[in-house]
Amino acid sequence: MQRRVELDETLPPVRVPARILHEICQHALESVPEECCGLIVGNELERYRHPVRCRNEMTALHHMDPDRYPRDGRAAYYMNDHDVARVRKEAEEAGEYVTAVYHSHIGAGAYLSALDLAHAEHAFFPFPDADHIVVSILDGRLEAGLFLRRGDVFLGRALKVAAT
Ligand SMILES: [Zn+2]
Repeated sequence: MQRRVELDETLPPVRVPARILHEICQHALESVPEECCGLIVGNELERYRHPVRCRNEMTALHHMDPDRYPRDGRAAYYMNDHDVARVRKEAEEAGEYVTAVYHSHIGAGAYLSALDLAHAEHAFFPFPDADHIVVSILDGRLEAGLFLRRGDVFLGRALKVAAT
């Protein structure tokens, strides 16, 4: 298993619609000092169609069981189960599916941490085929990375806004 996945600057950036990147960044900024999280829904023709916010339950989990959840929402995320179930149901009804999971990092870069990897690769993680997007808020700067899943390996690529 990879310990941490950084953006690979040698790979070309992936372009996503401005409204999607804008919404994710907005969610990240509104959630400071906690990490935000959510899902992106799409289909075969348009992989990243629209983002849906999910509540980050990590602070509540941390207070309930600090041994099992040693970090709170400032340094980790756990998507609210009901939010996830609702997004999944609505996507299915629209003939779509969850194509990506996003979350933010406060004071850290746009990489997939060892914790993020363990979470994504966990047997109960609901979207084993989804890509991951990380928005970093660091030193007053926003940066976004896309981590494409290829079997057991993630490839980190910068996210840029598409002109369309
Ligand atoms: Zn993370």
